[in-house]
Amino acid sequence: MEYTVVGFPRIGEHRELKQATEAYFRGEKQTHELLADVERLRAAQWEKLRACGAALIPSNDFSLYDGMLDTAWMLNVIPGKYARLGLDEVGTYFAMARGYQGEHGDVTALAMKKWFNTNYHYMVPELDENTTLCLRHAHFLDGYEQAKHMGIETRPVVVGPYTFLKLARSSCDKKQFIASLAGAYAQLLKYASSRGVQWVQFDEPALVLDMTAEDVALLGALYESVLADRPADGTKLLVQTYFGDVRDCYERLCELPVDGIGLDFVEGKLSAQLMAQHGFPADKTLFAGVVNGKNVWRCRYRDMLEQLRKLCGMVRHVVLSTSCSLLHVPYTVAHEPQLPEQVRQRLAFAYEKLGELREICRLVDLPDCATDAAFLANEALHAAAPLAPNPAVQQQVASLTPRDFKREMPRRSRQALQRETLALPLLPTTTIGSFPQTASVKRHRARWRKGEISADEYANLVRVDIKRCIALQEELGLDVLVHGEYERNDMVEYFGENLAGFVFTRDAWVQSYGTRATKPPIIVGDISRISSITTPWISYAASLTQKPVKGMLTGPVTIFNWSFPREDVPPAESMYQIALALREEVLELEAAGIRIIQIDEAALREKLPLRRADWHSEYLDFALRAFRLCHSAVQPATQIHTHMCYSEFEDIISYIDAMDADVITFEASRSKLTILRALVQNNFETEVGPGVYDIHSPRVPSVTEIAASLKLMLRDIPADCLWVNPDCGLKTRGEPETIAALKNMVQAASCVRDTLR
Ligand code: GLN
Ligand code: ZN
Repeated sequence: MEYTVVGFPRIGEHRELKQATEAYFRGEKQTHELLADVERLRAAQWEKLRACGAALIPSNDFSLYDGMLDTAWMLNVIPGKYARLGLDEVGTYFAMARGYQGEHGDVTALAMKKWFNTNYHYMVPELDENTTLCLRHAHFLDGYEQAKHMGIETRPVVVGPYTFLKLARSSCDKKQFIASLAGAYAQLLKYASSRGVQWVQFDEPALVLDMTAEDVALLGALYESVLADRPADGTKLLVQTYFGDVRDCYERLCELPVDGIGLDFVEGKLSAQLMAQHGFPADKTLFAGVVNGKNVWRCRYRDMLEQLRKLCGMVRHVVLSTSCSLLHVPYTVAHEPQLPEQVRQRLAFAYEKLGELREICRLVDLPDCATDAAFLANEALHAAAPLAPNPAVQQQVASLTPRDFKREMPRRSRQALQRETLALPLLPTTTIGSFPQTASVKRHRARWRKGEISADEYANLVRVDIKRCIALQEELGLDVLVHGEYERNDMVEYFGENLAGFVFTRDAWVQSYGTRATKPPIIVGDISRISSITTPWISYAASLTQKPVKGMLTGPVTIFNWSFPREDVPPAESMYQIALALREEVLELEAAGIRIIQIDEAALREKLPLRRADWHSEYLDFALRAFRLCHSAVQPATQIHTHMCYSEFEDIISYIDAMDADVITFEASRSKLTILRALVQNNFETEVGPGVYDIHSPRVPSVTEIAASLKLMLRDIPADCLWVNPDCGLKTRGEPETIAALKNMVQAASCVRDTLR
């Protein structure tokens, strides 16, 4: 049996792509130097894959910024405002990716959106009546040709026509693009044929979403047209799906005149069943995604082999593959020598997964692997005891009852009580938590991490910043103050470091978008609170002022979603464990006299299942409960806030209300009106603070502008339910613009408040 991967990480083992690209952005590297760096990086990866025995190695999965953007650029989907800048090829590409401001003009970037149920973000292509879809250039073969010189035959990867069309934004009816889109992909295949390419891969993850009959017809129409006059001996086409199963279009997919179909057997719950029920076409190759491309744990060979043998019984040609691109895991465990050996030996990042794939191929061809040393070692690994067990925590989760998830007093009564006890003015002003992380704040943290200053010295420096921050907020006249979050650089890592059951990596970066990468913590065992996480900082801040100071925590769903999860327990178990740890922190804050506590859930939407039918049973049921578990035990007068970094929750509004928080703040700089309407229509009970200005830009909003926003909000939201705040935390902003913006915000609130009397 042969193996391949759907795609490979591309930022470089040590984020070399980031360094090269950022040097180019700063003007320290010329275009050709950047491209030379890219060639070197790609070459090293193909060498690695070849050395690990992969067949059908992918190419063009490498990207300067994003694969969707590459495909748009290739298809001539370049909105006029970028084309008109008159920049060179690469310049235009980056203008679409990041916007452009300079001698050629001033344009904002394309929108960015979350890539299905991952933490990766893609650039959203924009179609309009001026778009002329065509194969503009053949850069998708640059990598292919380069690899060919190295003696490696690769499989170029592009986003497929269905997914491209579905995910693109369009100011006109998308139907008008079907013909030209299919034409461009047909041209692509023809061109690939002329270059002797053996296989091309079209990524079609949108086939795992809920599809209507019309969608299925579109899929058929697109592919019939793309493949209409393809020469019989031309380039073969693999349609690769991932992140789920293709239950709505499986039969149609099998009928298409393509040569290979890639299915996901990890997240695709029904993949095997669909095959058993409808069969698999004898003339096609199955690319069987049985090795998890998203997680970081070693697979169990026994399970993989069993699954493969079943598939081989149904299909003539099977190629072993990953469930999705390895883009979503770090490069290698080899860079993490600091991790305890028991943890390390259980982990498999991209390189280690190549080793696993190779082993599975070897084992599947053996008549009997029961005595094979590698097989036995793998069995032993999976028979080993769980890491870091904590029976007390397990017991606590097991004995949770419905009461643990419910605040006793209903929200409406609580809100009345809180208005009385907190005695805040109408339209109270506040911020989301963090204040600008100045160079000195970062320097202090770095020095402490390096051991140059002691923990006490560091704590003193943080306290100096907190004091300054409180004084500043008092001067600005804000109503509910925050401590500024100077002690944390990351809203998940900071909490993970104070909880047992997590480990942290040094170099295990995963691309989030473009040149940005994150280093998710790994949940390895049962989770519990080691000691106070935030109380000392918050209490200190509160001691400096008469005004209420908000406690500031990251919620259980976000901590979980931004970490690599365990595989030996269901997600609900870990989420409840995190929630119990946070519940201790919440109660400690309350006992310390903190009367407002914010529990951020920036990533609540992230893992919402792709299919609506799974929303409840596979996610919302326990995610919402986990959130409530954190705060259900506080006094009715203690006010619970939550914050979300987006406003796209029209479809889940009622579930947001079911978090049973008293106040929610969220982003609202775009789509303001729609979300407000939706809140009213759904009888939303939680008090709201839709962001009155966008913190993602250094622009200072004027008093008039903010006041106008507030008046607009007041049309839909009762005055006693409306809060006034920026859209998100201020940590990435500079101090001068932050002060100016907050000053205007406070003044705008006061003007509007006066009109309400
Ligand atoms: N409290 C956090 C902050 O203000 C929230 C960050 C976020 O929503 N991503 O930075
Ligand atoms: Zn936010």
